[in-house]
Amino acid sequence: MKIAFSPPFIDQNVIDEVVDTLESKWITSGPKVQALEAEMTKLSQCKTSVCVNSWTSGAIMMLKWFGVKTGDEVIIPAYSYCATALCVLHCGATPVMVDISDDLTIDPAALKKAITEHTKVVIAVDIAGLPAKYQAIKTILVSRPVKQYFHPSSEKQQVLGRILLLADAAHSIGASYNELPAALKSDVTIYSFHAVKNITTAEGGCICLNLPAAFNHQEEYRYLKIFALNGQNKDAYTKSKGANWKYDILYQGLKINMPDICAAIGLAQIRQYEDLLLPSRKHIALKYCSHFNRHKWFIAPTLKDQTRESSYHIFPLRIQGIDEAERDAIIDQLVELGITVNVHFIPMPMLSLFKLLGYRIEDFPNSYRQYACEISLPIYPQLLREEVDYIIKSVIATVNNMLR
Ligand SMILES: *Cc1c(COP(=O)(O)O)cnc(C)c1O
Repeated sequence: MKIAFSPPFIDQNVIDEVVDTLESKWITSGPKVQALEAEMTKLSQCKTSVCVNSWTSGAIMMLKWFGVKTGDEVIIPAYSYCATALCVLHCGATPVMVDISDDLTIDPAALKKAITEHTKVVIAVDIAGLPAKYQAIKTILVSRPVKQYFHPSSEKQQVLGRILLLADAAHSIGASYNELPAALKSDVTIYSFHAVKNITTAEGGCICLNLPAAFNHQEEYRYLKIFALNGQNKDAYTKSKGANWKYDILYQGLKINMPDICAAIGLAQIRQYEDLLLPSRKHIALKYCSHFNRHKWFIAPTLKDQTRESSYHIFPLRIQGIDEAERDAIIDQLVELGITVNVHFIPMPMLSLFKLLGYRIEDFPNSYRQYACEISLPIYPQLLREEVDYIIKSVIATVNNMLR
């Protein structure tokens, strides 16, 4: 058997929607992007949504929107994909890394200790699809002493009057918090539509805004759409509809708009998300747990607790009592059995760039501990029952053999 790790979900609906886009003769940003934004606003229950060409570019734009610049600090977990830190570096600011809790999300107590008068943003990561502890984080950010520490240096910072809470929701589309979409627990939530994520547009991302009432969401939407298109006040679609050819450049924007040909893929998927795609991921995750639970070496991932429910994007299998080398050996054997697996994540301080910048893995012991015993198993709607059974059987045999 040969089992892929995370192939994109491409059914006839996706193909039809893409063909429809091609036949419409309009392939860059236009009606499909608008339709996807409407679906995202509905799913996230946020006030507005802006689609862009990746999570990374969307995060750079939102940090710039908030006026993050050289000398500022952004608090992030050490345990994430590099983009969580790179967006900060791209703005000239400093990523301040903190350790994680055993549920793999940022540790609120460590976060609190890392706050200084330079802190402008906290980026919490919904690892594997599990929302970060937003209630605890928000309580810290709105507390009087922390607010008094905040030194606004841009108009948006002035209006917000505190540290911005940004959710790295690259994994967590469809996740919930207190039975509501998790995006309602932060100010800005950014999803990724990269090819391996729960919903994809090949490459893409979506920013969902849930800012306090002092912000005008219609205006922020208009501003961000223009910013994402070189600061140009009229997009090509509007011009193609016979509007005046003249345009203006209002500010130094980025060029990060999502094309319709990409939006079409995500649009066909999101229409099936809550009824089909999400439940089938959940089904597989629960099946993995029910079998692995019989083994003492199994450290169960938090899929659901009293407040949060995951989007089941990654199944992070952790094995009690193994070291990094043993983990790697288990992976080699699974690959030999035809099962493609992954590790989420190599903590950023272990990567060359961040080592050069002075980060040390010794400062993030729990990130290392979790990484060293973690193996991400395949989990996606197209996975057949026989394949899931084969993965379960192979994992149990391989791990038991290693621990013997
Ligand atoms: C995939 C991912 C990103 C980056 O998403 P892109 O759309 O590829 O830019 C950011 N954060 C996390 C946690 C991710 O897994």
